[in-house]
Amino acid sequence: MMFQYVKLLLYSIFLSCKVYAIPLEDSGDALNLFGLEGLSENYAIGATFIEGDIAVPLKAGRAVYIRSPKWPNGIVPFDIHASYTNDQKSVIRGAMSEIMKSTNNCIRFVERNSSTSVWLRIIPSRGCWSYMGRAKSSGPQDLSLQPTGCVYHQVALHELMHALGFIHEQTRPDRNQYVRIQTENIQSGNEHNFNIFPSTSVSTLNRPYDYGSIMHYRSDAFSSNGLPTIKVITDTDKDWESKMGRGMNLSDQDVEKLKAYYSCS
Ligand SMILES: [Zn+2]
Repeated sequence: MMFQYVKLLLYSIFLSCKVYAIPLEDSGDALNLFGLEGLSENYAIGATFIEGDIAVPLKAGRAVYIRSPKWPNGIVPFDIHASYTNDQKSVIRGAMSEIMKSTNNCIRFVERNSSTSVWLRIIPSRGCWSYMGRAKSSGPQDLSLQPTGCVYHQVALHELMHALGFIHEQTRPDRNQYVRIQTENIQSGNEHNFNIFPSTSVSTLNRPYDYGSIMHYRSDAFSSNGLPTIKVITDTDKDWESKMGRGMNLSDQDVEKLKAYYSCS
C-alpha cells in the first residue's frame, strides 16, 4: 500500500545506453545548479552523474541504476571528513539538523560507529553531488561537498535529500503541466538533465508540484545564454520563476514528502 503514496522515489531506472554509456571514472557535467562560485566539475570514481549532481554507479562501463532504498527506520549513520574546518562541519550538521527537527526526529543522522555497515561519508571531493537513497549494501556511501562552492546550508540540504531518496522536482512525471523546458536555451549536450522520470520509476507521493522545493532547479539551470531553461506555465505561478531553486530551507512540501516517504507519524 505504501508504494501508492511514495513520491519522487526512484524504484528502478533503466538508463538508456545512448545517454549513459560513459567510460569509467568519467567526470560529471560542468554544473552550477546552485549559482555559486568556485565549483569544479563533479567527479566520482566509478560513478557518473544524471541531472547534474546525482551520482550513479558505473558497471561495466555503463551506468546501471537499480534501486534507491530507504535508510532503515529513517536512521542515517554518517561521518564528516576530518579536513573540513569546524565552521564547515557546523554548516553540514546544520543541514542535518533541519531535516531532523522538521521531521520531529523521524529521520535522524547519527555518528557512525565501528559496527555501522553502511554510512553516509561526507567528503571534500570535486563538486556537490550525492547518490540516490541508501545506494550501497556495505561500507561508506559518499556525498561530496567541495569546500569551496558547496558547503552552504541549502546545498548540503539538497544533497542530503538526494541521499534520502529524492530526485529533482522538475523531473517528476507531471512536470510539463507546470513548467515548460526551453530547449533552445540549454547548453548543448546537457539536454538530458531535463529528462522526465516515468511514473513507473518515481512516485509523486500524491503531493502537488512544488516550485519552492529545495530539489527544484533554478530557472537558468544549464543555460547557454543566460535565458531561462525552465519557464513557469501558469500566470498565477509566474512569481516562482525568479524564486525557484533559490530557497535556503526545506519547503513545507519537502517536509511533507520526507514524512510520507519515511512513514513518519
Ligand atoms: Zn540535485
